[in-house]
Amino acid sequence: MTFTTVKRLFNKLKPISFEKIHINDNFWLKRQQINRDISIHHQYEKLEQDFHIENFRVASGIKKGVQIGEFYFDSDLYKWLEAASNILYTHKDADLEKNVSEIVNLIKNSQTQDGYINTFYSIRFLHKRFTNINTMHELYCAGHLIQAAIAHKKATGSIELLEVAIKFADLLVNLFLDGKRKCVPGHEEIEMALIELYRITENSKYLRLAEEFINRRGNFPNFKTYAINQYLGMISTLNLAEKKNKEYQKAAELPLDITSKKPEVNEWVSKLTLKDQLILLKEYLNGNFNQSNAPVRQIIEPVGHAVRAMYLYCGMADLFSETGDKNLLHALKRVWIKMVKARMYITGGIGSERSAEGFKKDFALKNEDSYSETCAAIGNMMWNLRMLQITGNCKYADLIELLMYNAMLVGQSIDGIGYTYDNPLVSHGKDKRFEWFRCACCPPNIARTISSLGNYIYSTSEKGLWIHQFIGNDVNIELGSNTIEVSQKTGFPWKGDVNIKLNLAKSQKFSIFLRIPRWSIETELKINAEQYFDGLSSGKYVEIIRNWLDKDRLDISFKMNAKFVESDQRIKNNRGRVAISYGPLIYCLEQKDNKDFDIFTATLKKDQELNVKYRPEMLGGVNTILGKDTSGKNFSAIPYYAWNNRGLDKMQIWHLAE
Ligand SMILES: [Zn+2]
Repeated sequence: MTFTTVKRLFNKLKPISFEKIHINDNFWLKRQQINRDISIHHQYEKLEQDFHIENFRVASGIKKGVQIGEFYFDSDLYKWLEAASNILYTHKDADLEKNVSEIVNLIKNSQTQDGYINTFYSIRFLHKRFTNINTMHELYCAGHLIQAAIAHKKATGSIELLEVAIKFADLLVNLFLDGKRKCVPGHEEIEMALIELYRITENSKYLRLAEEFINRRGNFPNFKTYAINQYLGMISTLNLAEKKNKEYQKAAELPLDITSKKPEVNEWVSKLTLKDQLILLKEYLNGNFNQSNAPVRQIIEPVGHAVRAMYLYCGMADLFSETGDKNLLHALKRVWIKMVKARMYITGGIGSERSAEGFKKDFALKNEDSYSETCAAIGNMMWNLRMLQITGNCKYADLIELLMYNAMLVGQSIDGIGYTYDNPLVSHGKDKRFEWFRCACCPPNIARTISSLGNYIYSTSEKGLWIHQFIGNDVNIELGSNTIEVSQKTGFPWKGDVNIKLNLAKSQKFSIFLRIPRWSIETELKINAEQYFDGLSSGKYVEIIRNWLDKDRLDISFKMNAKFVESDQRIKNNRGRVAISYGPLIYCLEQKDNKDFDIFTATLKKDQELNVKYRPEMLGGVNTILGKDTSGKNFSAIPYYAWNNRGLDKMQIWHLAE
């Protein structure tokens, strides 16, 4: 087994992995500190309380019991394990190490002899495994196990968990490769995970299986009949699980009724209106819900469940990176344009069809309906990183920045222990943060994203170094035979100044590709104090070719202005309204900062200069934006990511204006 190869032969850019990067700015370092000091431990307690870990104790045989909770519970623990491994790569934490090691052992001891792991099935009815691939989440969980195992190997050097993941992946290859079972994975994730496994093991069978799973979408004969049978199969399996749990409870004379909660999926459907239930049914049967509506190379628009769509696109992008199949890339580019132009909110959030947690038709982007699941924003960041590495096109890095500061970051409270699942763009004061969810996909997904944020900052190519994101950090980058120490300092997102210093062992001619963000009104660049003018257009990379010397320095100033933004007029409910942006941030009004008027009825004056005031004591330190409404009353706006941190309140992004 080898662990060295980074493939991606068809990519223009090579990644620089977060392990090499030491983030040290005031904004993201703080988020990373909270993530590793508070969130990761808090999430562990919740996973323990909610039986995610206990299920593995039962599955591994060290405790008696039944599986408690949802059929996708294992995946939340795997995502946590990936985040914890990322953290341990750079920070010693004895408690965290102990917990990680206990969980790794439990997973290992839960594996059946032929390699299978899934506590939902293995504890009660192993014979039913892989019978409902389209509705249950065994392959989704397997994908997260593989990703966690790769992160664990990187962090600890131990191949213990990776061997477990490989054994499971080998079972999948034996059972599924070459059309052995007719099925379509219901929740994408396994595809990108198998390709990551292929990259580190160099074993092409994993790539082939990923390709086969991707190719099956939209090519399944009699999909409707298959989907109905899969759905009925799921219901019968969930009922059987409930029955088994009740029997166990009775036999063990357990006083508490902890094992007989209705499955979350039943609860979800029962809470929907009849109309929404019908929409969900239609989306499922026509294949939209899990992107089985058309063969992947023919897709023209994003459809269905938004997280699933993003994970599929990640898998397709990875497959392009390894095979160079241009039809995949063309399809992804088409879908990207459609998403950004017509099916995405100003925050980068996606999904306005709440019943399906997914995409609706073009411009159907009601602010109340914004589902914008935090996981969908994370999946979108992951997909855009792949598109950026493939193409070197600035628009993908611009979108990553928007997602990072808005649709993703809003998902976690400033103190690191409160989360949102869905993210509306307007709130009537009933949306609160929760410490945990029964469907707990979002919290550990944020933890793994923040712990690996360094992935998004730099790349290299044959021509040189690419600087995508402006986050303070130090990094050593190998370029040719040279090692270049790069030190980036910045006041983002409050100030647009960036200073980059280079230390080179020897001088070297290469290009620096520097992203000029799409929002930058004016960009000033000095190299060693001398003004540089060429190619400083917003929304593009400026290529600076030089013989770079030790101690060379770039001083960049991106002009950040507070401004009103108007919506595409085809989005009906935003007509006559404006939003406020500042650099990469989208702003909102919370009622508590605006006691003189009702934020829903106030009309803002469009032709006014907005003022920016930094408030170090507020919400962890934020720039507020100040202006007036048409009656002369003052308003104060805060960054959208920071809302919902001071109790329930009314909030709005799109304001009436004239
Ligand atoms: Zn989620």
